[in-house]
Amino acid sequence: MADHGGRRPRLVMVASPLQGHMTPMLQLATYLHSQNFSITIAHSDFNPPDSSNHPDLIFLPLPANVSNIDTSDGMTKFFQALNHNCKPHLHNHLLQIINEQKESLNKESIVIFHDNLTFFAGSVADELGLPSIVLRGSSAVFFPAVNIIPQLHQEGRFPPQDSLLQEVVPELNPFRYKDLPFTRRPIHKTFELLTMLITKTSPSAFIWNTIEYLEQPILTQIRQQYQAPVFTIGPLHKIVATRSTSFLEEDTSCISWLDKRASKSVIYVSLGSLAKLDEKVAIEMACGLVNSDQPFLWVVRPGSVRGFEWIEFLPEGLVDEMKGRGLIVKWAPQKSVLAHNAVGGFWSHCGWNSTMEGVSEGVPMLCQPFDVDQLLNARYLTDVWKTGFGIVVERREIEGAIKRVLVDKEGEEMRQRAMEIQEKVKVAASVGGSSCNSLKDLVAFILSF
Ligand code: UDP
Repeated sequence: MADHGGRRPRLVMVASPLQGHMTPMLQLATYLHSQNFSITIAHSDFNPPDSSNHPDLIFLPLPANVSNIDTSDGMTKFFQALNHNCKPHLHNHLLQIINEQKESLNKESIVIFHDNLTFFAGSVADELGLPSIVLRGSSAVFFPAVNIIPQLHQEGRFPPQDSLLQEVVPELNPFRYKDLPFTRRPIHKTFELLTMLITKTSPSAFIWNTIEYLEQPILTQIRQQYQAPVFTIGPLHKIVATRSTSFLEEDTSCISWLDKRASKSVIYVSLGSLAKLDEKVAIEMACGLVNSDQPFLWVVRPGSVRGFEWIEFLPEGLVDEMKGRGLIVKWAPQKSVLAHNAVGGFWSHCGWNSTMEGVSEGVPMLCQPFDVDQLLNARYLTDVWKTGFGIVVERREIEGAIKRVLVDKEGEEMRQRAMEIQEKVKVAASVGGSSCNSLKDLVAFILSF
């Protein structure tokens, strides 16, 4: 182990301006700060985190110049520009620290953390000879699923023909071709994205916000393939308490609304920070929720229904019918909502953070995955852990699905399984559990630089 003369390495953590990436980075930063590391969060000036919620961390905004980039056709160009524009600023900042240290007797090493979309930080680390560690906020299975796409394409298996969709990908059992990321995009767009996503730098380690128990076979496969250590430290939100990491303001009034509902009676609906809906789909959701006759808490993010600022798409009659039965908010304190006793089901797009948050509270899930790793995560929920089922977005189907999860015996059985998994998650996140041990190992690993 390196001799630091008592000084711990300084950690520079570079997170993407996406909610699902920023949250685990800030959670990890908070944990590492509690272990006496000095932390700088380098972030693009687009979607900056609220530094006032994290007074112990130092924030370094990097000019990204991306606010005018059209993302309606995907986010590849946005991230290409962000990486290109932020890179010189980070490089210069680190070089300045390195040069200052040359003259100082009290040297401290620097370790860079980044996610798979802020890969410029990995290149800067390689150029300056600094160690880098990648934090992956997705499920572990997303990694081999992305890496295998070029091979599948070469062998004529990607994008999959209709006849293949239901088949299991032999290299990724139990995941099917239809669960793979990016199957619905034009192949040239997928390759543009893959060129960006597949790691070209040489990280010293990988961290996943997952749990050994949940993804053991895939983690074994990943460890066999890579020399670098793999740390599994999830669910971070159960190990470290942070103040809000949300870009949007959390509407906490929904907690007092939940306080007035019966135990396990409410369906909570949230499709994350990025998914967009057509008006027709949003209307089907609204009708299904109302017709189910169960209390609901529905997050409709401003701008998430195409062509509308917020909920103007709802006809007046429907708004009247909703009164008393449901609550619509712009953004919820999701972790507290899921932990609330009144919540009996979670209708989710199955982003990895939401999946881990649902699993951590033993809540059965209705799965409406869109793309990226969400279809893989939904497969875990519906067929591996068996704590959720897929939802067809049509009003009568929705009505039936909500009753299935909240009222029927099937929902109760799913809840039992979800609670058994919740117990495993608790063990992993407790002292001596796999994730806590992995965090300790990570600290020792950082100290070796
Ligand atoms: N979230 C929240 N309030 C909401 C909706 C979502 O705090 O009303 C949080 C949620 O708890 C999760 C994150 O936003 O931590 C969404 O991340 P996820 O990986 O599930 O999906 P993404 O937004 O990346 O598609």
